[in-house]
Amino acid sequence: MNENRTALVTGANKGIGYEIAAGLAALGHTVAVGARDEARRDAAVAKLRAAGADAFGVPLDVTDDRGVAAAAALIEERAGRLDVLVNNAGIAGELGPTWTQDPTSVDLDALHTVLDTNVLGAVRVTNAVLPLLLRAPSPRVVNASTSLASLTRQTDPHTDTGPVMALYAPSKTFLNALTVQYARQLADTRVLVNAACPGFVATDFNHHQGTRTPAQGAATAVRLATLPDGGPTGTFHDEDGPVPW
Ligand code: NDP
Repeated sequence: MNENRTALVTGANKGIGYEIAAGLAALGHTVAVGARDEARRDAAVAKLRAAGADAFGVPLDVTDDRGVAAAAALIEERAGRLDVLVNNAGIAGELGPTWTQDPTSVDLDALHTVLDTNVLGAVRVTNAVLPLLLRAPSPRVVNASTSLASLTRQTDPHTDTGPVMALYAPSKTFLNALTVQYARQLADTRVLVNAACPGFVATDFNHHQGTRTPAQGAATAVRLATLPDGGPTGTFHDEDGPVPW
């Protein structure tokens, strides 16, 4: 069913992104491995191919306008269209010993960098490849979010809200808000746009303190990337179902 489908995963050289790429490859997608570091990108492509995947590397720094345009051009040349985009690339910004990011003393340059990667990066890539997505029969966009972005949970006294995070959590709240606006704007197209929380996953991102494997963390994004036609759009899910905004 997925024959000739192409999926771009940003930040696919390691962690959850690599496993999303592997999961989509296992479902028959050709995977475009978006990554900025050439050596790590090549290594990920080689590992995916060794596991039987059809994969190719796409040089991609999501903060670089021209690089993003070049990535879209490369995918057009290789595949002619794009079936799946997973905006997975993300950074936390500097985390103190208790992972607190104090808004009252926040470094504005650091805030700018996190927003440029987690928010503007997703917008850059989505808009650059949108013409290719619109050529696909069942296009899907998945944005990598986190339950820490849920304002409902952050303000619920009965929930473990985690540390105060001025950089990371609001950047993903912004990405969630954009997910809704993209879904609304594209409601008359075949594109479904959703946000996925992977759970707390052991990766470089959290110095491997997470409790889930990257493959477990990838599952929700893979599911949302392969929703059937008429499936949900403008939603936020984790493995257990909808996450409140
Ligand atoms: P990792 O740090 O292991 O991987 C992050 C990936 O993003 C790397 O491939 C990294 O590339 C890439 N990346 C960062 N900045 C850029 C950029 N400017 N351009 C291109 N690629 C970039 O983290 P995870 O796998 O854990 O995280 C993946 C996503 O999942 C993130 O969006 C994160 O916010 C989200 N998430 C993770 C959770 C967790 O528990 N781990 C929980 C909730 C959400 P490079 O190798 O070049 O740095």
